[in-house]
Amino acid sequence: MTRNSCIFKVRKNAPVAQLDRASGYGPEGWGFESLRAYMENGTPPPEILFGSHERWMREALAEAEKAEAVGEVPIGCVVVHGLSVIGRGHNQTETLQEPTAHAEMIAISAAAASLGSRRLEDCVLYVTLEPCPMCAGAIVLARIPVVVFGAMDPKAGASGSLFRILEDERLNHRCEVIPGVMADEASQKLSAFFRKVRKTEGN
Ligand SMILES: [Zn+2]
Repeated sequence: MTRNSCIFKVRKNAPVAQLDRASGYGPEGWGFESLRAYMENGTPPPEILFGSHERWMREALAEAEKAEAVGEVPIGCVVVHGLSVIGRGHNQTETLQEPTAHAEMIAISAAAASLGSRRLEDCVLYVTLEPCPMCAGAIVLARIPVVVFGAMDPKAGASGSLFRILEDERLNHRCEVIPGVMADEASQKLSAFFRKVRKTEGN
């Protein structure tokens, strides 16, 4: 298989959902757009099939629902090792009043505790939204080899939108990045959440 004959079917024309509300993840508000066509640069491990990605992304979306249930911006993450989830996390920045309580940070910490190692070298991280610079930094430090995410975050994304931390050749670790997996579902969850918040505030 060549690098360009990618086995993954990634939607390149996902609908654009725009949001303008400030959130715990960023001071300037939100916006979500379709993924960008940069798959050609990545060759994920052959044993990881797209169907599997959807399976695990559903777990991340279930985490996002936990966040939504307590009034948090719905973002979820799981870290998968072999055929098991070894770390889960959902956004808890409001609940904990903790700026670092992003879904990825919580899932990475749980996964490291599970393995008893600060290096998550055989793991795949699934997150519903493109990681921010903080989480991308944590992913690099944890040496996670493959990152799969859903919707792009043009306001804060560090995996193609604003920065490309996960694939920066100047760092001592680079990830294979697979964007756009179940992006519509992730984006719709976020859009619906902010619609609801605006409606509540309007009353
Ligand atoms: Zn983050």
